[in-house]
Amino acid sequence: MKIFKFGGASVKDADAIRNVGSIIQNNCEDQVFVVVSAIGKTTNALEKIVASSLQNIDFAKNQFLEIINAHKLLSSELLEEVLLKKIEVKFDEITIQFNDFLDKNESKNYNFIYDQIVSKGELLSSIILNQYLLQINLDAFWLNAKQLIKTDSNYTDANILWAETKQAVIESIKPIKNQIIVTQGFIGANTEMLYTTLGREGSDYTAAILAHCLDAPELTIWKDVKGVYTADPKKFESAQLVEKLSYKEAIELTFYGAQIIHPKTIKPIQNSNCILNVRSFIDQDCKGTQIGNFENIEYAPSIVLKEEQILYTFSVKDFSFLNENNLGKIIETFGKYSLRINLMQNTAIQFIVCTDSKIGKNEQILEALSNDFEIEMQKDLKLLSIRHYNQDIIERETKNYNIFLQQKTEKTVQYVIV
Ligand code: ASP
Ligand code: MG
Repeated sequence: MKIFKFGGASVKDADAIRNVGSIIQNNCEDQVFVVVSAIGKTTNALEKIVASSLQNIDFAKNQFLEIINAHKLLSSELLEEVLLKKIEVKFDEITIQFNDFLDKNESKNYNFIYDQIVSKGELLSSIILNQYLLQINLDAFWLNAKQLIKTDSNYTDANILWAETKQAVIESIKPIKNQIIVTQGFIGANTEMLYTTLGREGSDYTAAILAHCLDAPELTIWKDVKGVYTADPKKFESAQLVEKLSYKEAIELTFYGAQIIHPKTIKPIQNSNCILNVRSFIDQDCKGTQIGNFENIEYAPSIVLKEEQILYTFSVKDFSFLNENNLGKIIETFGKYSLRINLMQNTAIQFIVCTDSKIGKNEQILEALSNDFEIEMQKDLKLLSIRHYNQDIIERETKNYNIFLQQKTEKTVQYVIV
């Protein structure tokens, strides 16, 4: 069994879905388990509906109907009459369920409502892909991820119940012999069988969870780039494709902000020693990047540039030293508001923290700590991280910037710059 994950860009229109069909056709000598994201920007559109559903139900229903109609139109470009009719019936059912949910829902819990609404994107895309695979004579079988991915009720960022998920996955696929299985990324269900979601861009994580539960030897994430690069090829001319990465190196790079794959993806596959291929759905001849249990790899320097950073400088109001209790309080506050610290440094009287700029959260931090500390905030900064650095690279990459702060370890150098 191998697992394939296709993201929103890979199914963005009828041609893109035909291309996904051909990839599956060319690679289905073993049983394939396909995980698909919502089409194109559907998730963003659904997020807007969540917001409007709290104010104007009829408006939200109309917006949803637009999404359904766009999916019907795409299906009509892709599918023969009989299959198209089937899809239209299914989409009408989903619309009725959606309207029903809005009419009956009494909960004011934004995150709960979000998951019930936003989960529809992956349902729609997976239904279309499944029908298309049937049309090209592939023996496809559609499974609702609700039946597979079991989570707690931490809506919008649900945590996996591993034992339950493993059991559900194994039980669910037992009767499916040699068929191509199609399911949704990003979504799951809690013990009450209500939809939950795993966090934006969470489809990679779903694929990794399935790979882990099934002990699959390989997971392939098909992307619009050839694989993992030493830097973002859209921003850096020097970017080169990396052939092999260890799990550890992949985790480091995602930590510094490289947008290769969802940060949660590596752990489950590492735990079951599954090879992760990152490959291009456009250039199928390119083998892309393999992430696995590799040792002794000579890495070329890699660069990650994270924009929209904020630097906080905390000092104690009475000019006393910053002690461990003070530091603990600051760090705990960042934890409480789930604002990840990208870099930190302390001096005798100052503690400096660099985080992503997140509207709302930055203000919460100020409010929570301004009684105890003098706080300065510098906005619109960038965080440049270079792994496996050398002096030439450092000079080349920093020469056009002002450096606010730097930090060096054996393998990584980081600069907060403007
Ligand atoms: N559709 C979801 C999103 O756009 C999940 C994913 O694409 O991985 O965030
Ligand atoms: Mg996506």
